[in-house]
Amino acid sequence: MNIVDIINKKRVNKKLTHEELDYAFNGYLNGTVKDYQMSSLLMAICINGMTDEETFDLTDIFIKSGDVLDLSSIPGVKVDKHSTGGVGDKVTLIIGPIVSSCGVPVPKMSGRGLGHTGGTIDKLEAIKGFSTELTSEQFVKAVNKVGLAIVGQTGNLVPADKKMYALRDVTATVDSIPLIAASIMSKKLAVCNKGLVLDVKVGSGAFMKTVEDARKLASLMVKIGAQAGRKVAAVLTNMDEPLGEMVGNACEIIEAIDTLHYKGPESFTNLIKELCSEALMLENPKLTKEEAVNKVIEVLKNGKAFEKLIEMVESQGGDSSMIKDYSKLPHSAKTVELKADKAGYISQIQCEEVGLSAMMLGAGRETKEDKIDMGVGLKLVKHVGDQVKVGDVIAELYINPERKDNEKAMERLRAAINIVPEKVEARKLILDIVRS
Ligand code: URA
Repeated sequence: MNIVDIINKKRVNKKLTHEELDYAFNGYLNGTVKDYQMSSLLMAICINGMTDEETFDLTDIFIKSGDVLDLSSIPGVKVDKHSTGGVGDKVTLIIGPIVSSCGVPVPKMSGRGLGHTGGTIDKLEAIKGFSTELTSEQFVKAVNKVGLAIVGQTGNLVPADKKMYALRDVTATVDSIPLIAASIMSKKLAVCNKGLVLDVKVGSGAFMKTVEDARKLASLMVKIGAQAGRKVAAVLTNMDEPLGEMVGNACEIIEAIDTLHYKGPESFTNLIKELCSEALMLENPKLTKEEAVNKVIEVLKNGKAFEKLIEMVESQGGDSSMIKDYSKLPHSAKTVELKADKAGYISQIQCEEVGLSAMMLGAGRETKEDKIDMGVGLKLVKHVGDQVKVGDVIAELYINPERKDNEKAMERLRAAINIVPEKVEARKLILDIVRS
């Protein structure tokens, strides 16, 4: 077998066998296939695509490139959740406690933020003492005890994807539905949960710009899951504005707590109900949508979901008094208001730009080494479809006055919020659901 022949075969749009994909992708991982050869193959895949069978094979090759986390000692149908990347995405902090308090175990591995996206692990570290670095054994033990644990990546999961993703990022080859599907699903399938709820973002700041493409990606990921014996539901959600109102770390924990008290923003709470009810239906297919949603509302109203968050925080060594009284969480020294400089209707709030503004305030990192300022962040007071007058507060910025880029962050945020003279309808947050 020869890598040049494999590249050429894909270049002329012929189907690659499992052996050929294995030769190319594992060869890249162990260094026998070079960066320039893999870049060329990736570009041929981007242009000509892959069949479903090739995508299943690639996912399998990725999974087998590293460790697999066996969760068989956690009884019952375990459910995981994944988002294709959002700004203000504190969904895991809410779904985990809700689904777990409905009796479904949630072993969740999450990531850190980089660039404009925040990471659940960083947000949790706003809680004093909270440990996200559990060994696999501690992780399983915590899920068995509490029904929920949220940790950073343990073990050497899917190293082939890690190396590949870095190359895709610098060769304009991220934008391929089969490559994205194999990349996401290999990481999810390497952790042996039975059910998976996917939040597939659609919009200007998302990988998928149109509903049609998002539907294709969702269907492919659902098929990959089914092929591996997993149950998957994918909810397509609009990313024309950030999720909820808060973007930052401690402030997103506060919004998560409010939502668990059933006092969160309405459309965000509806998304939570949608994702959680899908998770419950994966665990118990006899549940109707209405019954599943009612179960979610019940644990929000009776406080069980909030209690589950406290239990998880305590089991992972965190100071739960900061959750019971969130004024104890880190907060910024100063709040600055961003006011509308023209009248009209909010037509779009560009997610990526909002994320970058928060990063400039200190809420995120530009490089892996940067330290996060847990108390800073921002609140979007107005939303797409809202009418504004000159001088209305459209956002609040929670700032550390000692940082040098606060002014620039404020101007970036202003530019990210589009105001137009004509009336704009509020956008539907949930666009479609694709199930196995
Ligand atoms: N997220 C991933 O993990 N991989 C991709 O290719 C795109 C988004």
